Amino acid sequence: MESTKIKYSLLSYIESFRPIIYINHHDHVEVIDTIRTLDTNVQCLVFDNAQGLGIYSHESPFPRYIDSSETLYSFLDKVKDDAYGMETYLILKDINDLLSGPNKDLKVLSILKYISERTLYANDYHATIFILSDMLVIPHELENYITIFDYPLPIEKEIYILVKDFAKEMHINVSDDIIDSIVLSLKGMTKFQITQILNLAYHNGGNLVKEDTSLILKEKEQFIKKTGMLEIIPVKEKPEDIGGLEIMKDWLNQKANIFKNLDKAIRFGVDLPKGILIMGRPGCGKSLTAKTTAAMFNLPLIRLDVGRLLGKYVGESEENMRKALKLSEAISPCVLWIDELEKAFAGVTSNNDGGITFRLFGQFLTWMQEKTSSVFIVATANNIKSLPKEFFRKGRFDELFYVDCPNKAERIKIFNIHLKKRKKWNKNIDVEKLAKETENFSGADIETIVKNAVEVEFLRGLKENLDLSAIKLDTSTILDAIKGIKPFNNKEEQKDIKSLIDEYGFKYASK
Ligand code: ADP
Repeated sequence: MESTKIKYSLLSYIESFRPIIYINHHDHVEVIDTIRTLDTNVQCLVFDNAQGLGIYSHESPFPRYIDSSETLYSFLDKVKDDAYGMETYLILKDINDLLSGPNKDLKVLSILKYISERTLYANDYHATIFILSDMLVIPHELENYITIFDYPLPIEKEIYILVKDFAKEMHINVSDDIIDSIVLSLKGMTKFQITQILNLAYHNGGNLVKEDTSLILKEKEQFIKKTGMLEIIPVKEKPEDIGGLEIMKDWLNQKANIFKNLDKAIRFGVDLPKGILIMGRPGCGKSLTAKTTAAMFNLPLIRLDVGRLLGKYVGESEENMRKALKLSEAISPCVLWIDELEKAFAGVTSNNDGGITFRLFGQFLTWMQEKTSSVFIVATANNIKSLPKEFFRKGRFDELFYVDCPNKAERIKIFNIHLKKRKKWNKNIDVEKLAKETENFSGADIETIVKNAVEVEFLRGLKENLDLSAIKLDTSTILDAIKGIKPFNNKEEQKDIKSLIDEYGFKYASK
């Protein structure tokens, strides 16, 4: 949303006498700047815990603090009746501790109520309270007076202007295609963070060049990580790193063409793909597929860790989920990966946690159902037995895939991939035989076998003082390594999985 639109929506709340507007955003400077410039005829006061009472003039973005001994209560008590004569904005920063928890201050709550009621019912009184915070804590005493305002992150057009302005200010020439890639890499950041990152990139060579995009992405990874809800996963994997799983890869390739031509697809009327669920036993390439999906789509990979969303305040977990999903939308187009779905939403049916997981689950489902953004979900799970059925109903995921242990042809490919990765492939290795001996082994098992065989050969070379560069791995060393790995063979679990595949209509990922 552009800043004029943000101002317009804030003003419409103020004009309809919403007494408390709660803004949950971590760039307070930007938010306050918007508030203080909403209306020049309004008295704008601020309270923060360290500096007490401050007054904003319309000329300066910084307040003049006049009394640091002021507590929140004494501040509100002092100014509560100002709004009789003059429209007043009261900006309260970082006051969560006083609204809820062990330090909750009942006097503060009651004076906030006093101001809210006057704003609502007295004709000659007009105050608007803005609570600015990094997290959402709504005390039930004030529930009826609070309006939550989602302060949006800058959209592409705004980021473009920020970067252009920055280049102008620094007197540097940046070509349009570099600006475009920098803009894309800055999506999901606040204005404050964008300026910080641009400064950093600029000081790393006195210019903005193509290489700065990776520096920017690294910085962004840090910022996103600090939010504690999402993580950007660097992707080195390529589609060629997956042995087999051809049906799933073909399907993903089709969708990749849509994401690579997103503008054209949207104009044409193509429905944006929502995402896939991949179920299968550990080590069969689910995470590998999540990563290569991002590479195929040429998009960033963001991981959502549901466990980290859980908070200690009432409603905090739901708020974290909302923020995480919003952030993923701000970063979009992107691939959003939810790993170990059954663990992420464990407890959804048990109700042990007061229903929090259940609510998070519902929230996620609704978002998935309604989402129109270009966030492509890859959910991976070992076994979905414990999850509610509605998760897998049509309309949520575009496709459900099941990855089984690799078949013989796939095992050959996987052996070749991992041998080549370690530069140990040679035509004398009887890969056919290795594949024959590894029925029921997972891709991860095969990788371990190759890894172990390479290690054994290296240690032998050292011990026998051989020329290491001349050592060639042979079939028998790998066959020995196979003996050291026990394949998976749980018939009960296999039966379970089979019935889930039939019940939900999973597609087999392999030919
Ligand atoms: P999970 O299904 O448990 O998510 P992973 O994708 O993490 O399994 O697989 C672990 C590792 O095993 C991968 O990083 C990869 O090296 C190897 N692997 C698994 N399946 C395959 C495959 N089909 N092709 C190549 N390597 C594979």
